[in-house]
Amino acid sequence: MRPFTYERASNATAAAAAVAARPEAKFISGGTNLLDLMKLEIERPTHVVDISRLPLDSIEETLESGLRIGAQVRNSDLAAEPRVRSRYPMLSQALLAGASGQIRNKASTAGNLLQRTRCPYFYDRNMPCNKRAPGSGCAALGGFNRMHAVLGASDDCIAVHPSDMAVAMAALDAQVETTLPDGTVRTIPVGDLHRLPGSTPNVETDLGHGELITAVILPPPPLGRQLYRKVRDRASYAFALVSVATVVKKSGDRIQSARIAIGGVAPKPWRPMDAEYVLAGAAAADAAFTEAAESALAGAIGHGGNDFKIPLAKRTLRQTLAAAVEGA
Ligand SMILES: Cc1cc2nc3c(=O)[nH]c(=O)nc-3n(C[C@H](O)[C@H](O)[C@H](O)COP(=O)(O)OP(=O)(O)OC[C@H]3O[C@@H](n4cnc5c(N)ncnc54)[C@H](O)[C@@H]3O)c2cc1C
Ligand code: SF4
Repeated sequence: MRPFTYERASNATAAAAAVAARPEAKFISGGTNLLDLMKLEIERPTHVVDISRLPLDSIEETLESGLRIGAQVRNSDLAAEPRVRSRYPMLSQALLAGASGQIRNKASTAGNLLQRTRCPYFYDRNMPCNKRAPGSGCAALGGFNRMHAVLGASDDCIAVHPSDMAVAMAALDAQVETTLPDGTVRTIPVGDLHRLPGSTPNVETDLGHGELITAVILPPPPLGRQLYRKVRDRASYAFALVSVATVVKKSGDRIQSARIAIGGVAPKPWRPMDAEYVLAGAAAADAAFTEAAESALAGAIGHGGNDFKIPLAKRTLRQTLAAAVEGA
């Protein structure tokens, strides 16, 4: 690990200003991703601003009957919070499907959203990787790409975003609140937080340097049944091959509305709006689930090792919709 200087921030604006003042500075929260990357010298901050003690660790009701989740709320605390479990159960399910108990005890809400890809070539400094070293190439194209994206990728990068929590947040239409170095606050829909790779896979989010996430705001809980399903190689402690977060509202035998977000298939949580339109007003039966799944994966492209993800994602989506409809 390279030498770096350290400071503990006293408030959100000071933290944002401290990072903005140095091009090579980074925030550190739980450190469960950043420290691993620093040890491998993939992240090489010269200065680290510790935000873990900022008073951003509470969960509060909003005036609109939603929840405001502080950026420092730990993943385990968020998953166990009674209002989250009863009103946003798929968020709790997604969090509990991620990592391990020990990691969830350290991992923060904002850090989870901003964790970096698990592409093995990104972690291997001997291999070309446009995300780590722009212009060097992409070893995953034509390489071992079993875990990689089938939607939203580019010729320069086919990595997926690994967060489970972010997938549930996308289906819930959460908003991310940030503080800029001059103290101003802005709000970003979580669906706009992560960028698709295009020709600049190293630019991963819409955040500016020094922009600090202070909270995630959940709108009032959507009507209908929520469900998060994750398919992975082992029953625990493994990243998603495919995951689905869905909310289904039924009216009689028909689906009144449905929301879908898919994880493990794209560089960001994937929200297939066309599939949601297919389901709105359709009879709550297999034909509609199949049509929605075909629509959601219509533009999918495999890269050899991950071709299996396309039928797997369709099946997972169909089954998750069917299960959600049962209790809706
Ligand atoms: C073995 C292992 C297995 C895992 N399995 C899963 C899994 O199955 N599913 C899953 O979703 N995750 C998984 N994870 C990832 C884990 O959830 C993340 O490492 C964790 O959520 C990151 O949170 P953190 O607070 O430790 O972030 P940090 O490591 O402190 O920070 C991560 C990044 O976010 C930035 N950052 C942090 N807070 C802020 C803020 N408030 N504003 C702006 N920038 C900020 C940091 O500068 C850094 O770039 C796993 C991790 C490990 C090590
Ligand atoms: S998929 Fe992206 S992260 Fe992985 S090697 Fe290619 S450029 Fe790097």
